[in-house]
Amino acid sequence: MPSRSRIYRTEAVVLRRLDLGEADRLLTVYTPDHGKLRLVAKGVRRPSSRKAGHLEPFTRADLLLARGRELDIITQAQALDQFPQLRDDLLRLGMASYVAELLDRFAVQEENRLLYDLLVETLARVARGADARLAVRYFELRLLDLVGFRPELLRCLGCDQAVQPEAQFFSAEQGGVLCPCCGQGRQGARRLSLPALKVLRHLQRSPYEAIEKLQLREAVYAELEGLMEWYLTYLLERRLNAPAFLRHIRHLDATHPRPDRDPAA
Ligand SMILES: [Zn+2]
Repeated sequence: MPSRSRIYRTEAVVLRRLDLGEADRLLTVYTPDHGKLRLVAKGVRRPSSRKAGHLEPFTRADLLLARGRELDIITQAQALDQFPQLRDDLLRLGMASYVAELLDRFAVQEENRLLYDLLVETLARVARGADARLAVRYFELRLLDLVGFRPELLRCLGCDQAVQPEAQFFSAEQGGVLCPCCGQGRQGARRLSLPALKVLRHLQRSPYEAIEKLQLREAVYAELEGLMEWYLTYLLERRLNAPAFLRHIRHLDATHPRPDRDPAA
């Protein structure tokens, strides 16, 4: 009978961990060839554990895994990069946590090597780069590209006219720019300044080497951070709410026939 090999090896980045039982941990990791995995690290909370130091959050490690009945088990771990700078700087640590959380929430199970490379590059930039905030904004725009939510920044999503070099609106619901005519007074659209729009376009089309040379005013950093948090939260809620809403509708349909389909109504 053909069977999958019981042991396999993969590189992985630790996104999240949760204590399990007395000495174990449940880890969520992202890998280049298997996408997101949930794994068990047995005995890793014991002081004698040899794996422990290699499985800290954000660590990039080489793992040897044994297939389990439900979750696979980490039998060996060797850190490849532990990003020690993150542990000496709370602000950088906070940004790395944000990157890991976004990836965890947006990434699906299937493999995406580009997403894996982006994660590793971003953690290195956040840990060691001159401007960790720009590295995070770059990550957000690339992540949206790779998971299919690239925002439209060149044409108005209302009238399809080319966006002019002036302040615009941004619609989370439509996923991009609305011109001043289409965006004014529109619910769920917020103002987007010209400097912020220019940076967003630059982030979307340029390699990081060009981005890290940017010098932004504090107000532009703040505007971009607020805008992206608002847009990403909108996308995640929509994504997470949709299945629950569908289940709710199906349940209603099954238990209460709708009046328009009920001949007795
Ligand atoms: Zn328009």
